[in-house]
Amino acid sequence: MSDYYDALGIARTATEDDIKKAYRKNALKYHPDRNPGDAGAEKKFKEISEAYEVLSDTKKRQIYDQYGPDALRGGMGGMGGAGPGMEGFSSMEEALRTFMGAFGNNNGESIFGSLFGFETEPQQQDRQGASKKMTLTLSFEEAIKGVEKEAVLNNYASCSKCHGSGAASAAAVKKCSRCQGSGMVHQSRGFFSMSSPCPACHGQGKTISDPCKDCHGEGRVKTKQQIKIKVPPGVDNGMRIKMSGYGDAGFSGGPAGDLLVYINVDPHPVFERDGDDVIIELPLSFTEATLGTQKEMPSPRGGALKIDIPEGTQPDKVLRVRGKGAPNVHGQGEGDLLVKISVEVPVRLSDKQKELLKKFAELETETNSPRKKNFFDKMKSFFKP
Ligand SMILES: [Zn+2]
Ligand SMILES: [Zn+2]
Repeated sequence: MSDYYDALGIARTATEDDIKKAYRKNALKYHPDRNPGDAGAEKKFKEISEAYEVLSDTKKRQIYDQYGPDALRGGMGGMGGAGPGMEGFSSMEEALRTFMGAFGNNNGESIFGSLFGFETEPQQQDRQGASKKMTLTLSFEEAIKGVEKEAVLNNYASCSKCHGSGAASAAAVKKCSRCQGSGMVHQSRGFFSMSSPCPACHGQGKTISDPCKDCHGEGRVKTKQQIKIKVPPGVDNGMRIKMSGYGDAGFSGGPAGDLLVYINVDPHPVFERDGDDVIIELPLSFTEATLGTQKEMPSPRGGALKIDIPEGTQPDKVLRVRGKGAPNVHGQGEGDLLVKISVEVPVRLSDKQKELLKKFAELETETNSPRKKNFFDKMKSFFKP
C-alpha cells in the first residue's frame, strides 16, 4: 500500500480542492470501464479511491497524517469492510461508490456517459452519414403526370481509394485494444451493468494505424453527384420522397444517410388540388346556366374533355366528373374532377337585350324561382300579426 498522497500524486500540503481534482483525474484514468480486464488498473483505482476517501475527510486526514494508515484500519476510522490487516478496499463496489460520491450523481444513469463521452445512441448512428433535405419544385402538370428530375448533390461519398474503410491498407486495420474487438464496453455500478459502444473505436471493434491519404481515415470524401429523382404521378404539395442511401456516406464504411425530397407544386391558373380530386371553377353566362349547354374544358391530365351542363344549373353547384382528377400517388385509383359552377349576371346590355329581358320578366312566374318564392313565403309568416 503506497502512501495516500503519493497515490493521488499530490503534496502533503494539498488543499481540499487539490485532493478532489487529483482524485477525479486519476479515477477517470483508472476506472474499470476504461480498463476492462486490467488487474493493475483495478488495484490502482481501489487505491486512489481509498486515498480520496481518507484525505477528503478532514478528521480522517488528521489521523492519517499523525499515525499512518494502520490507525484508520480496524474500525477506528469507520472504513467499513476493511478489517485489520487487510489492504485497501474490500470491494470494487465501495471504490465505485466513492467514485459516484466524488462526481456527484445529479444526472443519475447518465453520469458515466457524460464523463467518458459515451454515446448512448445505438452504435449504428455513430457511423451513419447525415441525411439531406432538398426541395423540388414541380409544375402542376408534372405533379399529376409524374416526372424524372435531375439534381446535383454535394455529398460525402464512399472513398474509392480505400473503399470506405479509411485505412491505407488492410494491414493498417487493428483490433481495438480497449474493447478487444467487441465494439462494446461494459460498465458495472453497484447492482447495475450497462453496455455501450466502445468510445475508442466508436463501436467498430477496430482502429486504423495508417489512415487512407485521400480521405484522411474518414472513409469518405466530398463529391458532386448528379442524380435522377423519380417523381411518381399524383404527388402533391408538401409530400416527401425518401431516397434511401442518397445522403452522406457513413464514416469508415458506415451506412449512408437518406435524401429527403420535399415536393413543392407551383399553383396552376385554373386547377386546384384537393387530395386526389382536382377542382376547377367554371363561369357560365346566365343563359347557359338556365338553358343548359355542353362545355369543352381542359383536363388536368392534359387534353380536353366535354362536360354537360344541365338545364337550370345553379351557382356553386359542383359537377363531379369521375376518375378525371389526379392519379393516386400510391397507385390506388384516381380522384375526380370537380367542376364548380359560377354564374355571371350579364352586364353592359344593349337596348335590344334589355327589351327582350323585360319581355321575359313579364312572363316570369313564381315557379321559375323556387328559392325566391320559398324565402318570401317565410317572410310573410314572419310579418303576420
Ligand atoms: Zn480513403
Ligand atoms: Zn473498441
